[in-house]
Parts: sequence; structure tokens; C-alpha cells
Amino acid sequence: MKDKSMLMIPGPTPVPESVLRALGTHPIGHRSGEFSQIFARVTQGLKWLHQTKNDVLILASSGTGAMEAGMINFLSPGDRVLVGSNGKFGERWAEVALAYGLDVQEVKSPWGTALNPDDFKAALEADTAKTIKAVVITHSETSTGVLNDLEAINAQVKAHGALIIVDAVTSLGAVSVPVDAWGLDVVGSGSQKGYMMPPGLGFVSVSAQAWEAYKTAKLPKFYLDLGKYRKDAGKNTTPFTPPVNLFFALDAALEMMQAEGLDNIFARHARLTQATRAAIKALNLALYAPDDAASPAITAVAPAGIDAEKIRSIMKKRFDIALAGGQDHLKGQVFRIGHLGFVCDRDILAAIAGLEASLRELGYEAFAPGAGVAAAAKAISA
Ligand SMILES: *Cc1c(COP(=O)(O)O)cnc(C)c1O
Repeated sequence: MKDKSMLMIPGPTPVPESVLRALGTHPIGHRSGEFSQIFARVTQGLKWLHQTKNDVLILASSGTGAMEAGMINFLSPGDRVLVGSNGKFGERWAEVALAYGLDVQEVKSPWGTALNPDDFKAALEADTAKTIKAVVITHSETSTGVLNDLEAINAQVKAHGALIIVDAVTSLGAVSVPVDAWGLDVVGSGSQKGYMMPPGLGFVSVSAQAWEAYKTAKLPKFYLDLGKYRKDAGKNTTPFTPPVNLFFALDAALEMMQAEGLDNIFARHARLTQATRAAIKALNLALYAPDDAASPAITAVAPAGIDAEKIRSIMKKRFDIALAGGQDHLKGQVFRIGHLGFVCDRDILAAIAGLEASLRELGYEAFAPGAGVAAAAKAISA
């Protein structure tokens, strides 16, 4: 059926009608007073979302662009960086660092497990000469559905004095990322994740300590030079032509988020996560991430003995529900249920009911009919 598509992937995420409507208006000049008013308003909204007084800069980029900007503006060729790696995105930040000639040391943990803060402690304490300039961490590792312990790792980074650069692409807007309270230097995110918006905007928050590092950082940059964005943000505009319609959408999305309130947003994501995980357990399928490190945005399921791609295919064909597949070596091994952004209890109930039917169609019957739905319903009413 036309227009009944349900996106349950970890980005792009579903977009509310008010945000879609905001996109469909005529563009305005980005040097106009009208644009500056919107710019000022969304900048305030972004600071609210990041729980910070730091600059939050807006780029026309995906989340990777925001992270690349967050790395290259504060470092020089040959600088030593520690990169946390326990999934696809952690690996990507190591690749970016290598592409720019940084001296990369990875702190690894197997896919499906959380990074160990003690590993960071050991690596940072061994660096008595303070040659490590930055630590790059993926907060919610979307490829595996693991939430890393950012607070504990950050405490080690603070004790050392290096900058912390955080990929909060699927944690911001889903779980508290208190930038000022924790002293997070650089935090990158993207519009198509927790923001309830289409893809196209990247966001980077920058602390005073990071701006100090910017003064002497020598990696090449032009379009992603955050100093340019900061300077123009002071005049409520951008250095280059921004996607003005995405700014309209951001304005509408932030208004919705502020009406819901941060605590309610985080509670909703926690509830959706618990409901999804309870349902998967009731269906006797394996969760790929442990309970104590569950991402608030995405749940990865390892349906041992069943081809995860077949489940995805039936979910799409029969119910028009898009689930995400496994990345790299996890392809066919896991499927991932996104519950990030504009997602409500009803969406989870529908997805689990569709999943039950799809599993039966594939001949998997190791659960009582309705067990998954009942477990999800119990978790959302608890
Ligand atoms: C989606 C995502 C990104 C950004 O990916 P883009 O495709 O560049 O927007 C970065 N990190 C994580 C953890 C993500 O989920």
C-alpha cells in the first residue's frame, strides 16, 4: 500500500508531518533577517539538546562530515590519537584519522561488547609524556547496538588532559549526553538520526579547550574549517549557502523536542529499548548486545540458524517495515531494529507482531504465538 512504509532502521529515521511540511516551503535568502532569526532560534535549541553553553555549529553534511570536522580542526599531522573500536563506526574514525596522517592507536573490544574504560585508563596513564592529543569514542555503536560507557571513559580522558571527541550520532536525542556536566570537548551528530529530520545536516559542539587546540592545529581544512562557522554563527548565519529548507525542518523538529522535554524523550527511548529487548527474549532469539550496554537507538538481534536477510525481506514485502541488516561480517547474521527519534510504543508493537509472523513464515516456531507482543506490551505499560 502506498505511503504506509515504516522505517525502523537507525537512520534515516521517520520524520513527523510538521517537519515534512516545514521542508516544503519556498527557500529564503541565507543573508536575510528572516534566516538569521531561524538560525538564532535553532542554535539555542541545539544548545538545549546538547545541555551546553559551548558553540554548536551546523554543517551541510552527514554525520561522518561532522565527525571529520570534529577531528581535523583540533589536530596536526602526526599527532597521536586513541580511537575506541568495537564496531563499524569506531573503525571508521580510525580510518579518517589515518587518512589525515594521524598516529592512530586503537583501543579495541570485540563487536557486540562494550569498550572497557580500564583499557583507556592503562593507555592514557602510560602516556606520561602527554603525546596523546585526543581520544575518539563512539557513544552508541550503531553497527552492534552497544552503548559504550562514555562517562567512565571520559573521566580517564579528563584525568590525562587530552581532548575527547565523541560520535554521539545515535545517542544524542535518545539518551542524556550532558556536554557541560561531563566536559565533552567535541560532539558530532547528524540530522537523520535522533533529530527526526531527513539527512543533510551535521552538528558539532566545541568546548573552550578544543578552541584552544584549534589555534595551533595544522591539518588541512577549508569547507570544514569550524572557525569559519563560529565566526559567522556570531552573525547568525553560515559561511557557505546552507540547505535553508533543512533549517526550517530543524526549527520544527527542535520545537517538537522541546515540547516533549529531554527527560520524556530519554524515558521514551529507554522504554522502547526495553520493550524491544523483552520481546526478542520472549521469542527466544539472541540479543547481540548485553543488557548493561544496550543502545537506546538500535537493537541488534542474532537469530541463530535463520538467515537474517530472509527475515528482513519478509518484513519488507509483507508488512512494509524496513529493518536494518548486519554490516560487514555480520551480514546475514544479525538484523537491527531501529527505535530512534520519531518512534512510539505503537511502532514497536507493530514491528514485533510483524516479526512474529515473519518468523512463523520461515518455519521458526520456538515461541508461543503472541509471546513477543505480550512481552513488549508488558514493558511499555510497566
Ligand atoms: C549514522 C551514523 C554515523 C554517520 O553516518 P553518516 O552516514 O555519515 O550520516 C556516525 N556514527 C554512527 C554511530 C552512526 O550511527
